[in-house]
Amino acid sequence: MLRRTSSLSPSFGGLRERECPRCHRAVELPLGELCDACQLEIAQRAGKVSRWVSLVTPLVFGVYVMMVLPPLQMPRLVGGAATLAWFLLVRRIARQLAAEWFRTH
Ligand SMILES: [Zn+2]
Repeated sequence: MLRRTSSLSPSFGGLRERECPRCHRAVELPLGELCDACQLEIAQRAGKVSRWVSLVTPLVFGVYVMMVLPPLQMPRLVGGAATLAWFLLVRRIARQLAAEWFRTH
């Protein structure tokens, strides 16, 4: 049985870069990837930004919610849960946005 060795659609998975596109260090990388040092630096900077954003905005949101809601137990619990959800969502979104920002700038 003959085995087909060529494909009509080219595969780009095997393309490699000889240097990091961000810091220009000489390393072997898959096309479009950053080196380990750049990825670590981006993750650290994004983590720092997301920590600040995820601490400040839920605090402002929580104070606003507690001022607006009536001083009853159930609305306070819902407000607290909303503040926690706000914290988790903002932290995740801020980390992703900051990582994309630092990756391109
Ligand atoms: Zn790099």
